[in-house]
Formats: sequence, structure tokens, C-alpha cells
Amino acid sequence: MMLGAIEAGGTKFVLAAGTSPDVITARQTIPTRDPATTLAQAAAWFAGQGQFTAIGIGSFGPIELDRRSSRWGFITNTPKPGWADCDIAGYFRARLGVPVGFDTDVNAAALAEYAAAQGEGCSSLAYLTIGTGIGGGLVLGGKPVHGAAHPEMGHIYPRRHPLDRDFAGVCPHHGDCLEGLASGPAIMTRWGASLSEFPQEHPSHAIIADYIAQACHTLFAAVAAERIVIGGGVAKTGGLVERIRARTAELGANYLPGSACHHIRTPHHGDNAGIIGAMTLANAALSSQAL
Ligand code: ZN
Repeated sequence: MMLGAIEAGGTKFVLAAGTSPDVITARQTIPTRDPATTLAQAAAWFAGQGQFTAIGIGSFGPIELDRRSSRWGFITNTPKPGWADCDIAGYFRARLGVPVGFDTDVNAAALAEYAAAQGEGCSSLAYLTIGTGIGGGLVLGGKPVHGAAHPEMGHIYPRRHPLDRDFAGVCPHHGDCLEGLASGPAIMTRWGASLSEFPQEHPSHAIIADYIAQACHTLFAAVAAERIVIGGGVAKTGGLVERIRARTAELGANYLPGSACHHIRTPHHGDNAGIIGAMTLANAALSSQAL
């Protein structure tokens, strides 16, 4: 059996091949250009790896996940030039002639982290990425959550921090949503540097931690998640996850039931959570129990 995986991002595609989600034997990274160029380059790499059994794709979004829709497997109304209405799953199904598993990049990462947490009996896990954008995936009882499309946790509205009343936010749709206030571009626009460039006493650290902590509190309160895994470039800032953990506990105020089971972690798989999750999607595409 050979599984293929794609972590389709806005700036790069990570490609992988392996015999199971835990065993990646080859990988490649290519820049994200226009769809025709990028998808052809990815397909050519897979063709050079041998015969595949299934492919899994964890993609940037928004994407269509409704299996009753003729547009299942499409990247839909993304503002990324050229990529709107791109039938990414159909492309690889046609080119490689294999079943395709498909979900958001963050649901894929959540699946990988969920699998890693099984030894500890975790049955509900959210994955948040804090980077160029903010996105979140959610796995409950082993399945990634799909409802009306997929979660868009980056676009919830946090309460404004008292020291951050005036910044309008950078989200082109909402202004001061979570992504508009706490993503890498929001930090750069507001303070002219990335978070890791500021000393720990600079207010930026507490402000960003507060916004992410509000998202964590919301996840604990709204879906009773047991574990939140925080990845992405901004999350690598020294001390940030510890601040988020402490601030989330403050916001919870010892009220939420089960709060002793609430855990905020960095990714078990580090930067590989997304591609390992895409391998999991490939594996699931082979079984009748589609995710
Ligand atoms: Zn937004």
C-alpha cells in the first residue's frame, strides 16, 4: 500500500508518500503558484514515486466538503488569485486514478494530533494555527467536524484588549476578528515587527495571548474540547503558549465543568501535523467509513 498526501497551503504545497500515516518515506515541498502549474508539478512528483493506493489532501480554504454537492473537493471562494473554484480533489482523482480524502488543512492537522492523543484517552481536540492567518480544526469522537462547510475559528470576534482599542484589524472581511487582531500580519501591521522580536515585557505578548486565550476559552465552553493544540509560526514565539495557558485559566475562572481536563499544548507532530493528517485522510479514503 502506498499513500500520498498533500498539505495545500497558500504559499507552499507539502507532498508526501508513505505506507501508513506514521511512515512517510518521501516528501517534497513546492511553491504555490497558479493552480495549473502547481497541481501539474505535484502530480508529476507523485508519478515519480510509483503506484499509489489513495491520496489525502488537507487544503487551505474555503473548501466544499458536502459529499452531496457536485463541487465536493473544490477550493471555493478563496481570494487567492486563480484558485477560486479549483477542483483540487477531482484533479488528483483523475490524474492518479485513486480514491481521494479531502478536508481543511487544519482539520487534517487536528486528526493527526487527535491520533497522537489517543494514548491519553482524549476524545475531543481542536487544532489552532496562528500564523499568516488563523484557522482551526476540530475532531470530536474521531471525526473532523463538518457542519455548514467547516469551522472558521479564525473569524470569531474576541473582546478587545484594553490596551488595544484603536487598531482596526487586518481581516478584509471583518476587520477586528481574531485573525484580524492576532495573526502574523496583524502583529506586523500594528507594531511593525513580529512578536518574537519584542522583549517579553512588551505589551504585544499579553495582548496576543489574551486574544488566543479567548478563542481557547470559547472552544472549551462551546464544544467542550478536552485539548487544544496550538501550531503555526506565531505560536513558536517564546513564552506565548505559556501565556495563553495562564490567560485561558483566568478567563475560565474555575467555572467550566471538566476544566481540570482542559489542556493547551504545542503540536506533538510539530510542523508535520498537517501532512501526517493528510496521510490519515488518504487512509480513511480507502475505508467505507469516510471521514
Ligand atoms: Zn475575519
